[in-house]
Amino acid sequence: MALHVVGNVCVDDTFYVERLPRPGETVNAVATARGVGGKGANQAVAASRIGAEVVFRAALGDDADAMFLRAALGAELPLDGLVMLDTPTDRSTILVNREGENVVVTAAASATAFDPTGQLSWPGLGDHLLMQGNLRADVTRVCLEKAKDGGAITILNPSPLDGGPVPEADVIIVNAGEAEAMAGCADPAEAARRLSRGGTASVVVTLGADGAICLDRGAKDVERIAAPAVAAVDSSGAGDVFAGVLSGCLTRGVPLSIATTVGVRAASIAVTRRGTLAACPSRTEINALIT
Ligand code: ADP
Repeated sequence: MALHVVGNVCVDDTFYVERLPRPGETVNAVATARGVGGKGANQAVAASRIGAEVVFRAALGDDADAMFLRAALGAELPLDGLVMLDTPTDRSTILVNREGENVVVTAAASATAFDPTGQLSWPGLGDHLLMQGNLRADVTRVCLEKAKDGGAITILNPSPLDGGPVPEADVIIVNAGEAEAMAGCADPAEAARRLSRGGTASVVVTLGADGAICLDRGAKDVERIAAPAVAAVDSSGAGDVFAGVLSGCLTRGVPLSIATTVGVRAASIAVTRRGTLAACPSRTEINALIT
């Protein structure tokens, strides 16, 4: 009963600045940080910290950035699912200003080239597959279909949306903006109903400081889960903590509404800290939420 996370991993280089530079301008950073990034890696680590057995599949290059990522991720997860491609390891440069706003430039040659659809071992009966929107849409669709054919439960957090059709999955996790864009409806509860494909899929919509709603497959009404009031300083990565923790809970047999509650609580810890993966609650903190 494993959670297979198939997605991307990259190096995040973050520069904290007083204000974002204008075109042609150079500003000095007040602090810098280098860490593991990529929605796939972030969600895989969060799921592993809730105690799920995680198989993480992603692509890296053959360079110093890949060595950095292997060393950092090796402390969290088995690395056998990482493949080395003839492309540079993906990386992002992130500028964060004093107000916590950020701009990001990302180079994603490895994620774009990654195509695990020919791999031999697929999640099967009792397993879960979690994917995001960072791989090519055709690859994501085939991976989800193969897992479904093998009897696995599929979970999709389609962020970042690319404007194309979103593949089907048993559980869809989106934020409010994505729910509106996909369902064409500003009311998250109605959007969840529309995205449930006639009650055949479960849908979870995150609502920032307002927590989340979930609509379990076949249920008539959405359930609302409030977030604890916290002093938020940086919400980047909160959605990944949420999706990873929720998926890890589902893999452990936790019902969707409780999994959503645990995800909301874990993500609300993450927003009180700076960074993406660096803000993810520890194993001890996350497990205190589930007991
Ligand atoms: P994303 O970061 O993907 O856009 P959201 O902003 O909806 O997604 O946040 C994801 C989750 O993070 C929320 O469901 C909630 O649990 C938590 N969260 C986000 N912002 C806050 C906040 N200001 N206070 C408490 N929890 C928050």
